[in-house]
Amino acid sequence: MTEQTPVNTATAAKAPTLPDAQTVTAVTHWTDRLFSFRVTRPASLRFRSGEFVMIGLMGDPHPETGKQKPLLRAYSIASPAWDEELEFYSIKVQDGPLTSKLQHIKVGDEIILRPKPVGTLVHDALLPGKRIWFFSTGTGFAPFASLLREPQTYEDYDEVIITHTCRDVAELEYSRKLIEDLQSDELMQELIGAENLAKIRYYPTTTREQSPKMGRITTLLKDGTVFKDLGIDGISADTDRAMVCGSMGLNTDIKEIMEGFGLEEGANSDPKHYVVEKAFVG
Ligand SMILES: Cc1cc2nc3c(=O)[nH]c(=O)nc-3n(C[C@H](O)[C@H](O)[C@H](O)COP(=O)(O)OP(=O)(O)OC[C@H]3O[C@@H](n4cnc5c(N)ncnc54)[C@H](O)[C@@H]3O)c2cc1C
Repeated sequence: MTEQTPVNTATAAKAPTLPDAQTVTAVTHWTDRLFSFRVTRPASLRFRSGEFVMIGLMGDPHPETGKQKPLLRAYSIASPAWDEELEFYSIKVQDGPLTSKLQHIKVGDEIILRPKPVGTLVHDALLPGKRIWFFSTGTGFAPFASLLREPQTYEDYDEVIITHTCRDVAELEYSRKLIEDLQSDELMQELIGAENLAKIRYYPTTTREQSPKMGRITTLLKDGTVFKDLGIDGISADTDRAMVCGSMGLNTDIKEIMEGFGLEEGANSDPKHYVVEKAFVG
């Protein structure tokens, strides 16, 4: 008599249904335009803190054939390379093909994740320096959420300045809380060291809603306000390195400002003084 293999319904129910499927483990909504979520990490995925991957969901069925194709978009990995899960920080575009759906994901749902990380916001693309600047707007904070939790950031630099500019105060909550938690979390104290975490200088600004520091970071750099506020002489190619992640406008303007200070743009294959990545296309 052949023995019957019992069907494990729990396992069967969990079998992945999407190509390159990963399971959502946490979702946090920050505002009606912003949310973050965590997913399981493929065992084979290796990446450098600051890189991005393609993630998404299955698209709507084709009206004639009924076939569904993956709908993928570039996303910075917001968690550090050592984390056993992956975190993402996302916009909600109400008519956006992906995020109109992605904003409704719940714990236990699946997303598609193509495990091919790439990107320029990595330590390898910069020459050694003393001070690192992370310039971000909106969801452009995501790669820095990874790099701020990366021990190498503190091994490489004496000072870590993170600027985050959004329209409203509520849009700064993800970065504010992440940095606050980072500085009070016991695991992070152990992994990175309290003295290293004290190197972080957080510089949040808003452009629309009233807050302690108002204005575009580009304006505040050009008129010297940032330097005055932080008690720094300025930016120099001898000591300063920068990573930039924001809208096309921010990236172009900061590039010009960095070049004005004598910094040159680097790449993975040609490390220099600063690197830039788009937070989105459009
Ligand atoms: C290298 C790279 C990394 C990226 N990392 C992230 C990330 O970590 N988090 C994230 O939310 N998005 C990120 N994006 C943008 C992302 O790829 C999608 O554009 C976004 O998820 C919206 O997808 P969608 O299909 O809903 O709308 P899309 O059709 O892709 O976009 C519609 C319009 O919405 C606006 N838009 C898109 N993304 C944003 C954004 N992030 N902030 C403000 N306006 C936006 C643009 O005007 C765009 O034309 C990244 C893009 C690139 C190129």
